[in-house]
Amino acid sequence: MRMYTCGPTVYSYVHIGNFRTFTFQDILRRYLRYRGYQLDHVMNITDIDDKIIRRASETGASLRDYTEVYHKAFEEDARKLRLQTPERVVRATDHVDDMVKAIQKLEERGLTYHSDGSVYFRIGGFPGYGKLSRIDVSGMRAGARVDVDEYEKADARDFVLWKAAKPGEPFWEAPFGAGRPGWHIECSVMAMQYLGETLDIHTGGVDLVFPHHENEIAQSEALTRKPFARFWLHAEFLLIEGQKMSKSLGNFYTLRDVLDKGYSPEAVRYLLASVPYRKQLNFTFDALKSAATAIERLRNFRLRLDSDTLEPGQSAEIGAIGEQALRQFESGLDEDLNTAQALAAVFEYVREINTLMDAGRFKAGDRASARSLLERFDSIFDVLEVYREGRLSADEIQRAIEERLAARKARNFSRADEIRKELAARGVVLEDTKEGTRWKYGDSETSSG
Ligand code: AMP
Ligand code: ZN
Repeated sequence: MRMYTCGPTVYSYVHIGNFRTFTFQDILRRYLRYRGYQLDHVMNITDIDDKIIRRASETGASLRDYTEVYHKAFEEDARKLRLQTPERVVRATDHVDDMVKAIQKLEERGLTYHSDGSVYFRIGGFPGYGKLSRIDVSGMRAGARVDVDEYEKADARDFVLWKAAKPGEPFWEAPFGAGRPGWHIECSVMAMQYLGETLDIHTGGVDLVFPHHENEIAQSEALTRKPFARFWLHAEFLLIEGQKMSKSLGNFYTLRDVLDKGYSPEAVRYLLASVPYRKQLNFTFDALKSAATAIERLRNFRLRLDSDTLEPGQSAEIGAIGEQALRQFESGLDEDLNTAQALAAVFEYVREINTLMDAGRFKAGDRASARSLLERFDSIFDVLEVYREGRLSADEIQRAIEERLAARKARNFSRADEIRKELAARGVVLEDTKEGTRWKYGDSETSSG
């Protein structure tokens, strides 16, 4: 699966609305892998735009130094939310040469024009314009154009491919003059460079459908004459207590703001993941408390599974309940990532099994199937482990285990050993079994396969 995600613009801390979208992408990633797809997932980091230039120059920092701070902060926040790192995370400013080449090619095709040193894409020259957002282009004025990366109104206009540098601004040299790439061309170029001319999946938040993704399609398809993406998945917005999040309303939260109030990253992750991505998500602090309670229920259930003294034996009834729950869980996620249904299946399961445990009808031999169900659930939702600063994530450990396996296959035993030692130094204990390598954190009782 070749998947592209529009990543953050690194001019300040990423807010929880953004993280709604990134969490949806993480659930999508994990479920595709769960279903056996191999992923090649690219996410860009937008590290050049008007806001960045303005703020960097206000602080006197270079563009790189300024964006590096927020890029690092994003990575740290993403780790706390256990967002798996895409196979490739790429910066716009590392790809400017390729963007220049793409713009030149669009020029050769006669789809551009110049004005005041900037280069614009003429959307009238691309007949399919508007097909994703279904925007009405009938009243479009030829030559009406925008420079800014955010449109004021939802009307179609020619957009900027290359923006002429104003005095004092950072710039790159190009045949059409000193300047910098527009936001839209960044994504087209990086997506196609790493994933080829047609992607399987392109994701983002709904605000990107128009104009950003419409413009990505126009540029890319004009260049290749092939469909740009087979599937577009857009997450609906996160609202705060029913209102649009905004600084002026005083309801604007970064992840840090929420964690500083004492909520756990798992509770935030759970809440963000619990509402199917096609629905608006109403973020409230009450809902965050309920999320924490829900996680507690699951953790208590797991503790009970591990610690209750049980009679020997195994019951067919428990196995059947587990299979039913797993079917519901998977069919929910199969249905366009209906996370609400998947969670409902797990909680129904926990409720039923708790009742059977109380009645003494859950036997020692039933432990394995119940654990396996929890592990499957947690391979997607990932909320059972308590976050600890500095601890490796399950995903990072899994990647290290895979690398160690590959080293062993290549008979590079010293490298394999080194990986085991590196993990041990970070508090992760490996155990090789016939079913594969299991691991656990040395400082807790929990383990995973
Ligand atoms: P940006 O850093 O502004 O480019 O946004 C990063 C991602 O967050 C994009 O996919 C946006 O569509 C998404 N996004 C922005 N605001 C919200 C919100 N309130 N709820 C959900 N997603 C959002
Ligand atoms: Zn993009």
